[in-house]
Amino acid sequence: KNEHYKVHHKRKLHLDSSLIKSLPEIALVGRCNVGKSTLLNSICTAISKSENEEHAYASKRAGFTKSINCFNIGGRFRLIDTPGYGVMGTKKQGTEITKYLVNRKELMKVYVLINAEHGFTGNDYEVIFGLLGAHGIPYSIIFTKIDKLKRASLDKHIQEFEELMKENEVDVLPDYFFTSSEPKRGRRQGITEVRFDFLN
Ligand code: GDP
Repeated sequence: KNEHYKVHHKRKLHLDSSLIKSLPEIALVGRCNVGKSTLLNSICTAISKSENEEHAYASKRAGFTKSINCFNIGGRFRLIDTPGYGVMGTKKQGTEITKYLVNRKELMKVYVLINAEHGFTGNDYEVIFGLLGAHGIPYSIIFTKIDKLKRASLDKHIQEFEELMKENEVDVLPDYFFTSSEPKRGRRQGITEVRFDFLN
């Protein structure tokens, strides 16, 4: 028993001290391959470029649980990365994330990443209606890979989604953001702004 305690205790000492302090948290969720790592990397790079030297420390990756990774953003908030749902997510991971999303008091907002090319899928609806909507967790939508389709197709995804929301009697519609790892192509389609309101 004592041995176990020692090991456990030792491990505790190695936890990133920034995790002990309570900070607002923002979680990114989405299907596997939606472009979550790409977006996370560009957010962290953008922040470290725009911050002064003292706060340039953008993303120390630290284990939060086995499934959830936490990025400390300039000591001001935490960006929470979750494993992609869909084909690769295990049941245990799913439960862990659900518990986190539903119970975490530091969690301020969830960004649901949707691959613009494919639009909303059954899994996305489960997360949006069954989990976030059902528990009143605030969320916005981020369409990724917008370089892969025309603006009109994107608007169609949004229109279909909003119709479904209305059918389900949801009257507060989420905000939408658009991202692309190829900014010039996004710009040509008339999408000039990639905005992260949580950075202010
Ligand atoms: P994750 O599984 O959600 O973390 O997805 P990744 O960030 O690993 O991206 C999956 C694949 O999509 C990779 O091949 C990326 O290069 C590609 N990808 C990510 N973002 C974009 C984008 O905005 N446009 C295009 N065309 N490809 C992207």
